[in-house]
Amino acid sequence: MALFDYAPAPESRAAAGDIASTYGHFIDGEFVESTGSEALKTVDPSTEEVLAEFAQGTEADVDRAVAAARKAFTSWSALPGAERGKYLFRIARIIQERSRELAVLESIDNGKPIKETRDVDLPLVAAHFFYYAGWADKLEFAGYGANPRPVGVAAQVIPWNFPLLMLAWKIAPALATGNTVVLKPAETTPLTALRFAEICRQAGLPKGVVNIITGDGRTGAALTAHPEIDKVAFTGSTEVGRAIARTLAGTTKRLSLELGGKAANIVFDDAPVDQAVEGIVDGIFFNQGHVCCAGSRLLVQESIHDDVMDALKRRMSTLRVGDPLDKNTDVGAINSAAQLARIQELTAAGEAEGAERWSPSCELPSAGYWFAPTVFSNVSATHRIAREEIFGPVLSVLTFRTPEEAVAKANNTPYGLSAGIWTEKGSRILWMASKLRAGVVWSNTFNKFDPTSPFGGYKESGYGREGGRHGLEAYLDV
Ligand code: NAD
Ligand code: MG
Repeated sequence: MALFDYAPAPESRAAAGDIASTYGHFIDGEFVESTGSEALKTVDPSTEEVLAEFAQGTEADVDRAVAAARKAFTSWSALPGAERGKYLFRIARIIQERSRELAVLESIDNGKPIKETRDVDLPLVAAHFFYYAGWADKLEFAGYGANPRPVGVAAQVIPWNFPLLMLAWKIAPALATGNTVVLKPAETTPLTALRFAEICRQAGLPKGVVNIITGDGRTGAALTAHPEIDKVAFTGSTEVGRAIARTLAGTTKRLSLELGGKAANIVFDDAPVDQAVEGIVDGIFFNQGHVCCAGSRLLVQESIHDDVMDALKRRMSTLRVGDPLDKNTDVGAINSAAQLARIQELTAAGEAEGAERWSPSCELPSAGYWFAPTVFSNVSATHRIAREEIFGPVLSVLTFRTPEEAVAKANNTPYGLSAGIWTEKGSRILWMASKLRAGVVWSNTFNKFDPTSPFGGYKESGYGREGGRHGLEAYLDV
């Protein structure tokens, strides 16, 4: 039991700046109305309050945005890299200057805690723009030939779990390499992308280099199937990724996919338990578990299973669930009613299939979408909660006896985005890392991101890499 209660420590909602009641698209440097009349609403998932209406992009809107990007490509791609870099540095600095505003807006629209938007999302967003700004005039040294050429117009579709960070992962490398873009944010979190459009204007970015089209999957489908684009970059569900791959099959268009995951976080009996528990908590409860590389399957060596579970439950009991704008909140709101329903369905399946469910006692607000941090023990590899991506604050615990068994269990998934290893033994870390079929392997840490480090998956987690020097390749004609 905590000795002291926490007093409320709310961040000011007013810091988010003005939220318009309705938004159109950002095309050719201007905010324009949609050619259609359908509007969608985005809510604050912690209260269900409607924040704004925004346009459901039509095929005509997509045409217009792609045409603007195509027109801008000629001059943007002809600029010396150092000139493109200047715009990116300017955008990076404006993001830093406006980071409090953007962090609050992101928390309101997405439901994630201000502690995370302020200390993780926004610093990483700025870092991505700084990092790729630095590459813009050094592309000839990137290892892709003496005069690497951009691909052209990139269609980019992003999810709702890290709205502005996924925008940065997509737009920064595309612009640095001389491409122009049409980006569609997710339908539950369009607001920071629209605010980013303002930042493009503030930075004096030439018209048409960045276009933002809002709407749901119909708009995404129209954009990714558009005949005049040269490349698609998608982050989201494996199902939609597959549909896009089918659409592009047989064309000369390039495609990079960042899809789901079901990462193993593997704890050996020589690991420092308290540190490992911090990593387990960070791995699955960070961002409400709405993380494609979340450590959603805990593989713990049998001999320390009970100790780890005790320590984990103790630590979970201290997690503060509630108001995303409270600076003490650890776990915020689930992003949407649909996502909450999916988490509820999968956790009910976990119980029905015989796994043992536990959550700390915590009071959840009455309005909004909430799910208490949850751990399942006695999980077997065949349970749905061990196989399917839950994308919520739900951990499934399995055990192993030998390193070979840990590898076999960790790789027993159609996904392959990330993995974590907790052990004191360096040689075991290297041996495990060489055997794990995962794009990122963390050792004695989890969910560490850096713009210099490539990120991407094996198998159904997708293909192509984002971040680092490798991330340039997706936007170069090589
Ligand atoms: P989704 O794949 O449907 O949505 C992601 C983005 O794709 C959104 O912008 C959406 O509008 C767009 N989209 C939807 N249908 C499209 C289509 N046919 N063509 C082009 N774009 C389309 O994901 P979701 O429904 O928000 O979430 C469902 C599940 O996907 C989650 O439960 C989770 O398991 C997974 N997911 C993974 C990630 C990730 O980062 N890898 C992100 C979000 C969701
Ligand atoms: Mg929203």
